[in-house]
Amino acid sequence: MERHTRFEHHRWVGDKRDQVVHDIDACTDEQRIAELMAAGTYLCFCPDTLAEARNRSYRPCRHCEGAKEAAAAEAGNEI
Ligand SMILES: [Zn+2]
Repeated sequence: MERHTRFEHHRWVGDKRDQVVHDIDACTDEQRIAELMAAGTYLCFCPDTLAEARNRSYRPCRHCEGAKEAAAAEAGNEI
């Protein structure tokens, strides 16, 4: 998948409307990402991690393979 140049340096991109965070490299819902880019309601996290997104009450996208893996890894490591 082509990476959005806007997010060259970011992996995790949140949608402010539904507070879902996407793994921009691994999201299989490309339409949703395209729609999000068009709507302009996205934000990046600093640091660029799923943990930081979760701290801000974002939940991982169900269509992102990376988000699923990261969530599983976090569950295994931290909880
Ligand atoms: Zn996604």
